[in-house]
Amino acid sequence: MSTQVIPVTDRIWCFRRPSYFACSYLIATKTGPVAVDVGMDSDAADFLEGLTTIGIQPEQVRAILLTHWHNDHSAGAAFLQRTYGMRVHYSAAERPRLTRESATKGIRAWLGQRIPEAGVLVLLRGLLEEAAPEAVTADHLVSDGEVVEGEFRALATPGHTDGHVAYLHEPTQSLFCGDALAVAGNRLRLMARPVTPDITSAEASALRCLREPVNIICPGHRTPLTENVKQERLRLREYLESGGRWPLLG
Ligand SMILES: [Zn+2]
Repeated sequence: MSTQVIPVTDRIWCFRRPSYFACSYLIATKTGPVAVDVGMDSDAADFLEGLTTIGIQPEQVRAILLTHWHNDHSAGAAFLQRTYGMRVHYSAAERPRLTRESATKGIRAWLGQRIPEAGVLVLLRGLLEEAAPEAVTADHLVSDGEVVEGEFRALATPGHTDGHVAYLHEPTQSLFCGDALAVAGNRLRLMARPVTPDITSAEASALRCLREPVNIICPGHRTPLTENVKQERLRLREYLESGGRWPLLG
């Protein structure tokens, strides 16, 4: 087994890969299971392994909500949409990367296409090509503030990428924050500076997430935060509001 399954609540599971501890989530909603992010394999083997572990058939999964285009979050989306009819949602600003309109040409593309899709190399390949490995068309483009798939409020949270979106699952007050926030050692953190191209937007986005009175924070990497969430939200919020610098290593 390479995908670790971490139960978050009785209706939310985290599927975590060994590479970058990249996380996808599966949420049992009133009208069926919905996924948030489905990296890293472009045949979705890692995601399907997680589904098998919790006994859910891929045909049951209604939709995929993508936080952003990076390969460690989106690589399986095209395959899952094509094979099982899962509806794919992402923001308009992520569209050029996810449809590969933005794919680089020349030496970067040549290099990118020669990188095997294995483990940690998946993200590097995407960054060289500046595009997802396989084009995926959105069934729906998500707008800020909109409620998606009945239970998820979309929060535009740019900074890590231009069109990054976090999803707030309203029935459980759980925030699927992608790479807008990080969690390490049961503490809320920020993403490292080198992977945060727009610090000003990222800071506004982090604050936007931290002002939501959520009970659970499910980040794009490592481990969901389920304890001391309120204290951690307030601590990081106060740090940023009082003019604290964005840390180099997040
Ligand atoms: Zn990312």
